[in-house]
Amino acid sequence: MALTEELVLKALANVRIEARKFAAFYVFRSSNDIFKALVVTILTQNTNDKNALRAYENLVKVVGDITPEKLVGIGEDALANAIKPAGMHRIRAKKIIELSRVILEKYGGDLTWIKDLPLNDARKALLELPGVGEKTADVILVNLGKPTFPVDTHITRISLRLGIARSRNYREIQRAWMSILTPDPGRYLEIHLKLIQFGRDVCRARNPRCDVCGFKEVCNYYMSNVKGKVSR
Ligand code: SF4
Repeated sequence: MALTEELVLKALANVRIEARKFAAFYVFRSSNDIFKALVVTILTQNTNDKNALRAYENLVKVVGDITPEKLVGIGEDALANAIKPAGMHRIRAKKIIELSRVILEKYGGDLTWIKDLPLNDARKALLELPGVGEKTADVILVNLGKPTFPVDTHITRISLRLGIARSRNYREIQRAWMSILTPDPGRYLEIHLKLIQFGRDVCRARNPRCDVCGFKEVCNYYMSNVKGKVSR
């Protein structure tokens, strides 16, 4: 049986999205500000969304409004101190200061124009910023209502287990989901968030809960590693 959009929607129907568990989504939704979303996305790299949001909210307490001017103004030490809950705070502080400087120097501190660009131009502009990789760019783009599908470690693991991708290649996994789903930014964002939550709760890195999973019948991992053992 092939993986269809209908099956995806059915398998993820009970997954609930709490905005605060998705730091970038939460910050973008509450601020509609690309720079703020970039800062919190840098804070989520290699840590969980809860710690990233704590670090971000600490930073808000220190600077008031998060803007490139304010962050350059407080300097690296104070910034590092404020974002400690995210871990690797010195490295992150450097990255955030560099990002702020470039945005100030190249664009006078304003990124609002990016939302009016076509998808590929907007992606190119984001990727040219320091510390912004493909996933970060796509997270911002889909939150801006552009038709793209960001891939994270949970989505990579689920895709490999399902067998819809053969490698960890970002573009291959992205293409696989975009070919299954209706080409609509709202749908891409919904399934992106739901898959992450599903990866946290059900298709976990260790001990996936295949017994309660709606993807069983189309899942390579289940067919080769679980089904035989269950029916024996
Ligand atoms: S059946 Fe198991 S391995 Fe496959 S998607 Fe579901 S939880 Fe993950």
